[in-house]
Amino acid sequence: MPPGPFADIPLFDHHAHSLRRVQPETPDAFRAHFTESDAPEMVARHVAWSLFYRRALADLGRFFGCAPAEDAILAARARRPVADLTRAMFTDAGIKALLVDPGFRTAEHYDLPALRGLVPCPAGELLRLEVLAERLIPASDGWPDLRERFAAGVRKAAGTVRGLKTIIAYRTGLALDEWDAASLAAAFREVRDAADRGRTRLASKPLLDTLLWTALEIAAERRLPVQVHTGFGDRDLDLRLANPLWLRPVFEHPPFRAITFVLLHSHPYVREAAWLAHVYPHVAMDLSLTVPFAAHTASDAIVEALGLAPASKVLLATDAFSIPDLFWLGARHAREALDAALTTIQHRGFAGPDDRDVIARRLLWENAVAIYGDPRE
Ligand SMILES: [Zn+2]
Repeated sequence: MPPGPFADIPLFDHHAHSLRRVQPETPDAFRAHFTESDAPEMVARHVAWSLFYRRALADLGRFFGCAPAEDAILAARARRPVADLTRAMFTDAGIKALLVDPGFRTAEHYDLPALRGLVPCPAGELLRLEVLAERLIPASDGWPDLRERFAAGVRKAAGTVRGLKTIIAYRTGLALDEWDAASLAAAFREVRDAADRGRTRLASKPLLDTLLWTALEIAAERRLPVQVHTGFGDRDLDLRLANPLWLRPVFEHPPFRAITFVLLHSHPYVREAAWLAHVYPHVAMDLSLTVPFAAHTASDAIVEALGLAPASKVLLATDAFSIPDLFWLGARHAREALDAALTTIQHRGFAGPDDRDVIARRLLWENAVAIYGDPRE
């Protein structure tokens, strides 16, 4: 398959997840990875009509040298062990570094040491804060105890992880409130009772708001970058509350200026994220998931982002999960969307031919190195 634009510039995939130990074998199981909906009807009837999926079949058909059809692609995938497929796809996609949020689909995915054995590049770790809190609740004796255990967990991880990651946007939203001791104690009792009955998904606003604030205090002390899920994502989020503009009090809090915040995904709040990256020195934005899920409009998102956000503040990544195909597609589509975006910007007179490579290098590699450090160290 021809290499595509910017193939010589490596991608630092600063936000992604692990791979399934058991790869999908049926069309429905495979298709389910190409939508954020968890409705079986979407997978059965509509995903096949999404332009992202149709394009993915065409690309994967070329990669495997088979027909651009589900059956042919699934047969070609089944012939390759996952280790072999992963290595081939990462190499072809020029992914030269990876940061993994291992807190997603933990039961079905390879753990980080196993994933490191599969990918042909360094793979650093991100700490998913809400998963850490959920793990600590059953053993905690009360709110103060939970908070202490959580702070100790974040401090311990701070020595090894490249950054923190919060998914509070799709639990209770980005508008953080301050909570008094009585509300926190009551919230803890409710959550602990639920955990004792086997329900561990943490969706208590008092606890989530306060634990995130605690984690941010540690991130500021330890100079750890923080990835914040913003915009679209899993079906359980209220998109109105995933608008990054809610984060203004966090960005304005003087001690938190020591943290670099990376607004993940951004869509449909690309303009809002670009404004925040424009005005706050410690805020950057990312367009993973927007590329490749937003299909041909992903290049518009890059054009939009670069309108207000300096090129030193915009990052690309795959946000790929479960199947190596999403890494390969995400990385290729990111470079292609970037190429189309830079062509548009050039036509509008705001970039010259010499700017293309310099800007592409910043979005694909250098901005991530500036935030998370050199992945090879
Ligand atoms: Zn993600």
